[in-house]
Amino acid sequence: TEACLSAIDAAGALNAFVHHTPDMARDMAQAADARIKSGDATALTGIPLGIKDVFCVKGVPSQAASRILQGFRPEYESTVTQNLWNAGAVMLGKLNQDEFAMGSANESSCYGPAVNPWKVDDRQLTPGGSSGGSAAAVAADLCLAATGTDTGGSIRQPAAFTGIVGLKPTYGRVSRWGVIAYASSLDQAGPMTKTVRDAAIMLGAMASVDPQDSTSADVAVPDYESLLTGDIRGKRIGIPREYRVEGMPPEIDALWHKGAEMLRDAGAEIVDISLPHTKYALPAYYVIAPAEASSNLARYDGVRYGHRAKLGQGDGITEMYEKTRAEGFGLEVQRRVMIGTYVLSAGFYDAYYNRARKVRALIKRDFENAFAQGIDAILAPTTPTAAFGIGAMDSSDPVQMYLNDVFTVTLNLAGLPGIAVPVGLDKQGLPLGLQMFGKPFEEGELLNHALVLE
Ligand code: GLN
Repeated sequence: TEACLSAIDAAGALNAFVHHTPDMARDMAQAADARIKSGDATALTGIPLGIKDVFCVKGVPSQAASRILQGFRPEYESTVTQNLWNAGAVMLGKLNQDEFAMGSANESSCYGPAVNPWKVDDRQLTPGGSSGGSAAAVAADLCLAATGTDTGGSIRQPAAFTGIVGLKPTYGRVSRWGVIAYASSLDQAGPMTKTVRDAAIMLGAMASVDPQDSTSADVAVPDYESLLTGDIRGKRIGIPREYRVEGMPPEIDALWHKGAEMLRDAGAEIVDISLPHTKYALPAYYVIAPAEASSNLARYDGVRYGHRAKLGQGDGITEMYEKTRAEGFGLEVQRRVMIGTYVLSAGFYDAYYNRARKVRALIKRDFENAFAQGIDAILAPTTPTAAFGIGAMDSSDPVQMYLNDVFTVTLNLAGLPGIAVPVGLDKQGLPLGLQMFGKPFEEGELLNHALVLE
């Protein structure tokens, strides 16, 4: 814990931690020490962690990197963090992210961008997003592991950009209670770690059956670590041909081949498969996610939480809402709220929102069909490129940024588990990752496959 606290102080330029809790960390470390001495420790007892700002931690600023939640200190603890503290883990502080987890470069944060510890010729690169602070902190050894959330790729894409492991669990595996909502039917919290084994340990602690989250699944949490045998002989791994998108750099393709070879060498069978509706996933996601966001963000009205605008003479409640939301929400969040209310409006609901829901059902069926044909797991690239420069994306063209999520959003729409693993470096020396998708609630098997790629 002391080593991490010093490392955090020395790495301020990465802008990974946005709120430090050193006193809390030392108290928790001391309690962990006593617990270890009494012989009642878990694998996480005394392990210092970073927590994405989107998780409510009692008494600690929890803003989802938004100005609108300025000054908000939750009166309650998220189930995920409570589970981690129950296991004896130590809280180092809150981690940077995109505002309300909307973004792929950690550039929409009210705290400014987080910086990737990997560099090319001193050029500053993004750690990805939205869990950019989590990824940067784990990659730079500021904490031993971190929590992230993945609505459309926000655990896996930053993991790929920083050369770490990131796991998005099955929808319902990890409680959403106390996690500030972005798109509730897609949001899922998961671990961001240095190794697959660490991800197994973290997931085991984070996951629980939680009556406080109505979408929490009543499925027992196995001991994931004990399932890590590395034996994948006879497993059938699908290679989805639709993920071979136009303009994909040859390096990513080569990496994909390398990953398939590693799995084959371990005794798995590699099978070409088709997930025919893949190309509709991105547009469906960018209808459904903003629709849900526009509804979830309606609660930030200047009355219940955080920021309230200063009002002028004669301003009434409508002006209070308008000014508060205009000041409190960043531009990307405002854009999502506008897209969301548009696709949900009476005149366009059928054309956009209902259509997107149908596409979502087809995407889910694609995966079900693949698994019904005996496929055990699916291998695909995590991102279409390695980490790009901070500010490299043109902010007047948001679609360019949205395209970064082309390989990740399908999984969230289908509610399935996925894991991103670093597999190699590109010619500039930057990390590149592959991801594997698994069957619902089969995170143990997924982790076991990922072990082979590590
Ligand atoms: N980049 C995607 C978005 O902006 C995914 C974000 C996420 O998974 N939280 O919506």
